[in-house]
Amino acid sequence: MSGLVLQDVAKHFGNLVAVDNVSLTVPHGTFVCMLGPSGCGKTTVLRMIAGLEDPTAGEILLDDKDITPVPTHKRNLGMVFQSLALFPHLTVGENIAYPLRIRRAPRAEQQKRVDELLSLIHLDGYADRPVSKLSGGQRQRVAIARALALSPKLFLLDEPLSALDAKLREAMQVELRQLQQKLGITTIVVTHDQREAMTMADLVVVMGEGRIRQAAPPIEIYRKPADAFVADFIGSTNLLDVETDGSGRAVVLGSAVPGLKLPDDQHKAMISVRPEDVHLKAPGSDGIAGKVNFVRDLGGTIETFVEAGGKIVVAVTTPRERTKFAAGEAVSVVLPAEACVVVKQ
Ligand code: ATP
Repeated sequence: MSGLVLQDVAKHFGNLVAVDNVSLTVPHGTFVCMLGPSGCGKTTVLRMIAGLEDPTAGEILLDDKDITPVPTHKRNLGMVFQSLALFPHLTVGENIAYPLRIRRAPRAEQQKRVDELLSLIHLDGYADRPVSKLSGGQRQRVAIARALALSPKLFLLDEPLSALDAKLREAMQVELRQLQQKLGITTIVVTHDQREAMTMADLVVVMGEGRIRQAAPPIEIYRKPADAFVADFIGSTNLLDVETDGSGRAVVLGSAVPGLKLPDDQHKAMISVRPEDVHLKAPGSDGIAGKVNFVRDLGGTIETFVEAGGKIVVAVTTPRERTKFAAGEAVSVVLPAEACVVVKQ
């Protein structure tokens, strides 16, 4: 298969299992975001793909070739780390040309490639500027261009945007995604920012405690999380207990949810309901009786925290959608059955 394959890859540091039998298939040209809480093993997976860390077990294949024993400099990869590691005393052009210079590429070829890459990162005409005079976003782009100088097969980035402020970071996410699509290069980014992953990835890999909890396209991860961990980690959600009553109805927060069914063999489970799927109505016959506990009006969205059945349920609405409820008001919480996803615990 053309692309990257990890087969039962593990990494132990002494007694610590940092990565536990990870298997993953990344077709050529895919943009992967590896996501997970601190210490879940995502950087270690990236470092093993890069050849900076030897797996304790398993194999890594690139285009059907076992690259596990191949040293980093022969793996044909481009890498960008959080620190960027640009050479501050060199110009933009010299930084980008550096990998070509080490390989003794002819000067004219270096010049041509630098011009191509500068155009690609929208910094035409910047070749002679010192990198020390660039803004954070521009430096980021130079680091990306330098990593792509040798036209690698695989592009690896570890928290590449985390040093940027929120606005610039969002802009760079879009830019990086567009660049990757233009080049069609297989790209793996480690991030702890789920919004970043949702923006850029074809495939999101959520890790927890050294294992892959779910690997799927971003919207599938959001809409059909495999388990409570993934549901809670990606976006915000309401995780609620559900159990069937004597007549087979699914009961959540003390009230039956019409249309909700549990898998045949289960009487108790957990559901994930996204806040934007929770409907709030004036108290009435349908829904779960609750009382508004707190309202956060963020302008574009309104978050309403409702106490119902002894739990807090969060509903998110837009100002256009419906009237706002005030703290202390009685409401009816409606959970549409189709928005309730039964998740493993
Ligand atoms: P973060 O988001 O904080 O960077 P991460 O998900 O990238 O976390 P890793 O850096 O892969 O996590 O680390 C996974 C586990 O392996 C952690 O418990 C870490 O302390 C441990 N670890 C990583 N590198 C080493 C090492 N060289 N020696 C010993 N333990 C290590």
